[in-house]
Amino acid sequence: MDLGISALNYVSGIKNNEFTVEEFISKSLERINEVDKNLHAFLQINDVAIKNAKEIDAKIKSNQDVGKCYGMPISVKDNICISGSKTTCASKVLENFIAPHTSTVVSKLSSEDAIMIGKTNLDEFAMGLSTEFSAYGPSKNPWNTDCVPGGSSGGSGVSVAANECIASLGSDTGGSIRNPASFCSIVGLKPTYGLVSRYGLVSYANSIEQIGPMTKTVKDSAFLLNIISGIDPNDNTTLDNKDQDYLSNIDEGVSGKKIGVVTEMTNPDGLSTDVLNATNDAIKTFEKLGANCEHVSLQMVPYTVAAYYTITSTEAGSNLARYDNVRYGYEMDSSGFEFNSYISQARSKFGPEVIRRMILGGFVPSAGHAGKYFLKALKVKSKLITEIKHVFEKFDFLISPTVPIQPFKFGEKINDPVSFMMVDMNTVTANLTGIPAISVPYKITNGLPIGIQIMANHLEENSLLQAAYALEKTVDLPEVSI
Ligand code: GLN
Repeated sequence: MDLGISALNYVSGIKNNEFTVEEFISKSLERINEVDKNLHAFLQINDVAIKNAKEIDAKIKSNQDVGKCYGMPISVKDNICISGSKTTCASKVLENFIAPHTSTVVSKLSSEDAIMIGKTNLDEFAMGLSTEFSAYGPSKNPWNTDCVPGGSSGGSGVSVAANECIASLGSDTGGSIRNPASFCSIVGLKPTYGLVSRYGLVSYANSIEQIGPMTKTVKDSAFLLNIISGIDPNDNTTLDNKDQDYLSNIDEGVSGKKIGVVTEMTNPDGLSTDVLNATNDAIKTFEKLGANCEHVSLQMVPYTVAAYYTITSTEAGSNLARYDNVRYGYEMDSSGFEFNSYISQARSKFGPEVIRRMILGGFVPSAGHAGKYFLKALKVKSKLITEIKHVFEKFDFLISPTVPIQPFKFGEKINDPVSFMMVDMNTVTANLTGIPAISVPYKITNGLPIGIQIMANHLEENSLLQAAYALEKTVDLPEVSI
């Protein structure tokens, strides 16, 4: 049995009686047992997965209605809640937190008979891009275990790339789906803000983040988006997906489409040579497919990383205030503390990156400083939105490398915060403007992946997936060998 099959091939495998759900789930669990000691994609495994599999097999056998996922194993980033199981956000602060409710995305997948195989590792509270900030230790890149898998949804990326499951759900505040997708050579989609419900996602910077699929193929991404998108009464920012079927016309191609290559995201100064070469190659590929590519400037892009960290730290400061060991927390003897010192002591369980963000998030919007920092960041955001609107009057898509560099070694960047943040240079624009963006695996160079990012206008996931599929069809990448 091939554990590396796509979601769509899994479905046809089940329909053609090539394997049962139980057989597939058992093999996936064996695989996890075998490789995850080393890769550390998972923080938790679903201990009733086999029972779930048997139930779905029984439904199939007795010809009852079975959901579209037919028991496929899907992993879930550990900042997305599943009722009755732990949601740690890879933080010591939530080490024993049992979620009281299930996120809408997981409910939707479960009602289509997907099996949530386990919860995946991330940077603490999704702040980071390498999983080095997980309080439970990093995940490793299956292409080279000396390298980071990207983040913050690094565990999700690894679990899919290493064939521990069929697909995963990640969250993307500034690139956290696309960055690990690029670093692990899988497909990662950040949908339009509002297209997918955030109910049950632990908020980091809720005004710009989205849940999205991380999959082996572009078609799988469309398949999962069909299931998880749409209005949710529990999240009043959600938008109507108009019953779009993102799969039905995915083969339309890009002939005659106009593609803007974002100058500021392909600046040779900021890119590694290999990434630049791969990007130039992808431009040629799009042209061969009949698209027109031309460079386009988005002048706000150089300011986006600073604006992004200012805005997200402000929101994080407010969102994370609730972890005061009163409403959420852990056993801690309060004797000898007065109120403030007790709260400080309780909050010292946060890791260094989260603490940095909360300190920054208290400072940048504060009276006397807001004009210099927070309000300026909002200005950058609104100017960027204006630029993007304008650009999409002329172009169908924008492209860039997803990440300016290839996966780096553990410890290589963590002590240089500015160059660390600059890794987000190409991904944060889609979050600040709310547009959809996808990372498509494009090359393996020096044994490590490079992904190409495609962005489209609001709610243009349909054509975005068509462009991604057209690009994907031109590449033939090796399988990871682990
Ligand atoms: N690297 C970015 C950050 O740390 C993005 C994280 C994310 O998308 N969750 O904020």
